[in-house]
Amino acid sequence: MQTHEIRRRFLAHFENAGHTPVPSASLILDDPTLLFVNAGMVQFKPYFLGEAPAPYDTATSIQKCVRTGDIENVGHTTRHNTFFQMAGNFSFGDYFKEGAIRHAWTLVTGSLEDGGFGFDPERIWVTVFENDDEAERLWQDVAGLPPERIQRRDGRDNYWDMGIPGPGGPCSEIYYDRGPEHGLEGGPVVDEDRYVEIWNLVFMQDIRGEASPKYGAAPIGELPQKNIDTGLGVERVAFLLQGVENVYETDLLRPVIDRVQELSGRSYDEGTEEQGVRFRVIADHVRTGAMLIGDGVVPGNEGRGYVLRRLLRRVVRNARLLGITEPVLVDLVGVVRDAMGPSYPEIVTSYERIAAVVRREEEAFLATLATGSRIFESAVSDVRASGSTMLPGSSAFALHDTYGFPIDLTLEMASEAGLSVDEGAFRSLMEEQRSRAKADAAARKHGGADASAYREVLERAGLTDFLGYSDQRADAT
Ligand code: ATP
Ligand code: MG
Ligand code: MG
Ligand code: MG
Repeated sequence: MQTHEIRRRFLAHFENAGHTPVPSASLILDDPTLLFVNAGMVQFKPYFLGEAPAPYDTATSIQKCVRTGDIENVGHTTRHNTFFQMAGNFSFGDYFKEGAIRHAWTLVTGSLEDGGFGFDPERIWVTVFENDDEAERLWQDVAGLPPERIQRRDGRDNYWDMGIPGPGGPCSEIYYDRGPEHGLEGGPVVDEDRYVEIWNLVFMQDIRGEASPKYGAAPIGELPQKNIDTGLGVERVAFLLQGVENVYETDLLRPVIDRVQELSGRSYDEGTEEQGVRFRVIADHVRTGAMLIGDGVVPGNEGRGYVLRRLLRRVVRNARLLGITEPVLVDLVGVVRDAMGPSYPEIVTSYERIAAVVRREEEAFLATLATGSRIFESAVSDVRASGSTMLPGSSAFALHDTYGFPIDLTLEMASEAGLSVDEGAFRSLMEEQRSRAKADAAARKHGGADASAYREVLERAGLTDFLGYSDQRADAT
């Protein structure tokens, strides 16, 4: 089933049940807690928080999402994209747990002829929050699931809140068993690669105080109006229904992999695992880059622009590592446009602008890489000659300071060369430089913000996502 058809069936299922279809919000919303929209509920936050009355009782959407916290998973797990589409149904004081479970079950296991996804009900597992007896009973009564395929999880996995006093509630997640050849027996609590999470149902019922129920504290009250927020991963459903191995090989991303095969002359399916990761990273990141630029992000050294820059640079580097010497970004965003265009016309109408942005970014980066890589290589041979396995902080600092190599790039290249980096020494050198710069500035009595300090914090900590949705703490590390 093509991704387009999965999207269509999802919306039709909920529209037939009276939900108002709501278009995806932009990836960039005016929300200080959030770098990028990372869940379907984000555009409905005012309704869930009680700040505004919902203009409908029930709604459905397919939201563009970006989760930078998943960047390190990309290409390595079967199921993590940096950009993905989250399909959702939302109830604002209308149906609650029973309705949410019934809707999800009928769509997931409904026959193809009846507009469902046709998943084998025998292969479906679910999790519920540890004390949510009601949800466990409903899964048995409504869906006929046997108790052994319903597992309980504690608040770290199956409790949702916003990380601040306000609404919260237990979650229930739906998993598909890919079969014994894909991992260990025992359900999702044992192996989340074999049992792939496709849908998360959030039952907003609690009022939480300062202490989070996630960590065992009881909620301080019950919401007067109970709400439903769900998120289904469209890419995950596509990967499972298309009989491919992972979210990077579906009809939306495989064309990028195929194009990279042509450009590199290398085979994706017959190559090593390490090479496969490179193809998958390229496919994932170039799409995210195009979608971000489509929504107005431009490459830069801070915040959103830095995330975009990092993604595009990873594409370029991975292409080099596959032996491609020519620029690739314009070519690959063309492939993304053709694949994503039918669902996201903005990618088609903004194509010229997207192409211009990535062309400029790639030219600048290739120049940086050309000089920096030479310096890097000679530092690596010095380290090897001295019998060490750690690149000195001074080399990382010189690369950063003189050649514009961000530390994450040095870390990545060092790890590919089998070396670690003396990050402690690098930080101290950065710190010294900052103090010197501050002292100089004070001496000259110049004001102004110190952008380099911010940049360095970003490089050290990575960029964090909004922590509120589901088990996003893992995404934020
Ligand atoms: P996982 O545990 O697999 O990382 P999650 O629990 O973090 O997923 P949720 O926050 O519950 O995911 O998001 C709702 C749904 O969105 C998930 O059930 C999944 O189908 C989909 N999803 C989440 N993260 C990604 C991702 N990085 N790429 C593709 N789909 C995703
Ligand atoms: Mg999960
Ligand atoms: Mg989840
Ligand atoms: Mg996750």
